[in-house]
Amino acid sequence: MSIRVYNTLTGEKETFEPVNPGKVGIYLCGPTVYKPSHIGHAVGPVIFDAIKRYLTFRGFEVTWVVNITDVEDKLIAEAAAQNVPVFELARRVTEDYNSAMKKLGVTGIDHMPKASEYIGDIIDYIQRLVDKGAAYPSDGDVYFDVTVCKGYGKLSNRSPDEQFGQRELQSGQKRNPGDFCLWKASKPEEPDAVKFDSPWGAGRPGWHIDCSVMSMKLLGETFDIHGGGMDLIFPHHENEIAQSETATGQSFAKYWLHNGLTRFNTKKISKSDEEMARFMEKMVLTRLLAERDGELIRYLILGTHYRSPIDFSDEEVEAKRKGLMTFYRLFDRVLRITGTGVYGDSPSLSQAPGAVEEPLRGFADDVLSYRQRFVEVMDDDFNTAAAIAVLFELAGRINRFIDEQKVETEPGDASKAAVLAAGRELVELGRLLGLFLEPRAIAGAGGGERLDAVMRVLIDVRQYCRQNKDFRAADMIRDKLAEIGVTLVDRPGGTEWETR
Ligand SMILES: [Zn+2]
Repeated sequence: MSIRVYNTLTGEKETFEPVNPGKVGIYLCGPTVYKPSHIGHAVGPVIFDAIKRYLTFRGFEVTWVVNITDVEDKLIAEAAAQNVPVFELARRVTEDYNSAMKKLGVTGIDHMPKASEYIGDIIDYIQRLVDKGAAYPSDGDVYFDVTVCKGYGKLSNRSPDEQFGQRELQSGQKRNPGDFCLWKASKPEEPDAVKFDSPWGAGRPGWHIDCSVMSMKLLGETFDIHGGGMDLIFPHHENEIAQSETATGQSFAKYWLHNGLTRFNTKKISKSDEEMARFMEKMVLTRLLAERDGELIRYLILGTHYRSPIDFSDEEVEAKRKGLMTFYRLFDRVLRITGTGVYGDSPSLSQAPGAVEEPLRGFADDVLSYRQRFVEVMDDDFNTAAAIAVLFELAGRINRFIDEQKVETEPGDASKAAVLAAGRELVELGRLLGLFLEPRAIAGAGGGERLDAVMRVLIDVRQYCRQNKDFRAADMIRDKLAEIGVTLVDRPGGTEWETR
C-alpha cells in the first residue's frame, strides 16, 4: 500500500510520490523568536517529527528543515522594550525553544536556518523578481506585484483583492492593495544589527520571502512537503508560492500539509481576566514542561489527527496521563513477568518457543494484525490518533493474554517469551510516533529499574502486612507513598504503582 496525504493545494487526499524517488524534503515554518514558546508552537514540530519517523520507517531518506525567524518587526520591538540587542534576545528565545523540543522528543530536525544568515540569497531572489517585472521598489521598500502572478490564490482560494492582514507595516506606495512586502526599508531609529545593505538601500527582508528562500536553498526549488499551522495558509503560504514559482518558473512545494491549532477549554477559567492570564502563562512551554512530562504533551498532541484542532485543558492533560500510564503499567508487568525490560532488541513473536501452537499462535496472529493496522492508519494521511488507538488495543490484547494464560502465576517459558516479544512490538510501534523512547519516562520518574525494584519491596511488605491482618501498617505504607506522589493500584494480577 502507498501513503496518502491530504494536500491543501488540491483539497484532496493524494498518493504520496516524492519529487526524487526515495527522498523526502520537508519544510515547516518555525517560530519568530521574540517571546517564550507557547504550547501552540509545539504542535507542528511534534507532528512533523512523528511524520519524519514514520516516513523513515517506510524507507524514505528524509531531510527536515524548520526555520528560525530572527529578523522581524515584533522581535525588534521586543528587544527595544527589554533593552537588549536583537540577536541576543533571538539567541535566548531560540535556546528556550530548542530545549523544549528536546523534552518533547523532537529530535528529527536536520536544519534550523536563521533568516539573518540568508540575507544575500534573499536579496538575489528579490532581484530576480524585480528583473522579471514581478516586483518593484518603492521608497526603499520592494513589493511583489500580485497581478503578475497568474496562479495567485490557488492555495487559499482567495483573489488578490482579498489580500489583507499583512504582518509588515507599509511605508512605501503599493500598486495594488494585495501586493506584499519583499524588502522593507530600515527606519533611522532601528538598531544597526538589523540594517542590511541592498540594491534598494538599507533594510531587511519581509517574512514571506525568508521561508521561500531558505526552503529552496536547503531542499531544492521543487520539494515535497511544506507544513505549517492552518493560520499560515493565507497570506503567508499563498505568498510563498507566488514569489517562489514566479522567481523559478518551477513548482514550489508539491504537498501542503496544515495542522490544526490549539484550542483551549477556557469555560472553567474565564471568570476573570486575571485567571485567564494565569492560565495562558501556564501554557508557556518551558513552564508546562517543568510541571508535565514532555512525552505526555507529545502523546496529547498526537492523540488528535493533525488536521483537527487540539483541545488543551488541565482535565485533558490528566485524562491523557491516565491513558499513557496504561502502557507503562503494562511495561512494568512485562518486566515483572519476564525479568527483562521491553526496550531491548525485538525478537519476532513467531520465533518464540511454541509459537506455532495455540494459544500462542492466535496471540501472535493478533499482534501481527495490530501491526498491520497501525501501518494502514499511518499510511492514511498520518493518522496518529488512530495509530494510538491501535496501540491501546494491542496493550489490551497483551494484558488479556497474561490474564487468560495466567502468565503471572503459572509462567511457562513459551508464554513468557511471547509476552516479551509482544511488549517489544508495542514499544517499537510507539517509537515510530516518538513515544516510549526512554525507559519508564513517567512511572519511574527517571528512577528506572532500581526504583521499580525498591517499590516491589514495599509492595511485598504491604502484602505481608495484609496477610497478617495488620491493616494499619498496610494502609500506612499506601498513605505515606501517596503523600510523596506514588499511587498503589491493586489489580487482579498484583499491585502496581504509578507516580504523578
Ligand atoms: Zn514560513
